[in-house]
Amino acid sequence: MARKKPESGKLLRVLGGDFFDNPLALSPDRRATVRCEIERGAGSEVVEAKFGKLQTWLQEAILAPYPLCACGRRRVGDIDRRDGYGRCVLCRNEETCDVCDDQRVRIAIIGDQRVCPVCVTRVQKDTQPGLPSEIVGSIRRQARELLACAYLTSEQGMVVLQAILRKSRLPAYASGWAHYYVREGVVWGSHLSPGALQILEHFPEAAGDPQRLMAAWVFDGPWRGGQDFFTQTQVMGRSRPVPPLPNPLHEPQLAAQLVNF
Ligand SMILES: [Zn+2]
Ligand SMILES: [Zn+2]
Repeated sequence: MARKKPESGKLLRVLGGDFFDNPLALSPDRRATVRCEIERGAGSEVVEAKFGKLQTWLQEAILAPYPLCACGRRRVGDIDRRDGYGRCVLCRNEETCDVCDDQRVRIAIIGDQRVCPVCVTRVQKDTQPGLPSEIVGSIRRQARELLACAYLTSEQGMVVLQAILRKSRLPAYASGWAHYYVREGVVWGSHLSPGALQILEHFPEAAGDPQRLMAAWVFDGPWRGGQDFFTQTQVMGRSRPVPPLPNPLHEPQLAAQLVNF
């Protein structure tokens, strides 16, 4: 006999699945898989299924971060919000440039202007202020702190964490980091290599385009909404446009603290 399934529940965490390769389509891909953690009684349960097979409340919870655009053609994701635009990519491609008045062009928001690709370099040069000194200082401080840690490769780091957490299977937040850093009972995971940290230690001396590039290593990480610009370009050797900085700027994060033992 089939167990009666709950009509509502709580989505605790999205863990992955190919659904998230393309979550912005107007009609969600019902055959794509989703892996997530939901509340179950006092504990939690990991669910892995095709999107179309999930209960309605869970489908809605998964789609909540991707609301429909006002144009009704596509959903809006973090990538559309990152520069403060907030509508879908189809709308973005049909805007008018505030600088050259070109119509139906793809725009980026720079300052409070909508700027087309032709004008973007010029506007960035003219209006780009240096990053606030707290941000610059924080990036250097964090780089130094991580460089003062013991360094572990991805495999070594995961073995150490398995021992500390006494689990053969690490929770998703702790596994799969490219680099681990350990000091005084704290373990951090990071997408940034020691070589990258040595460069970031000199962040305050950089300016202009090099500083923007280094800032993108930090701000566009492997976390939610990020493409992991550093890994894509520096490790995998792909060519990618430098992503815009988050707007508003938040505290930079060079690594995630995983355990404090
Ligand atoms: Zn739209
Ligand atoms: Zn323009």
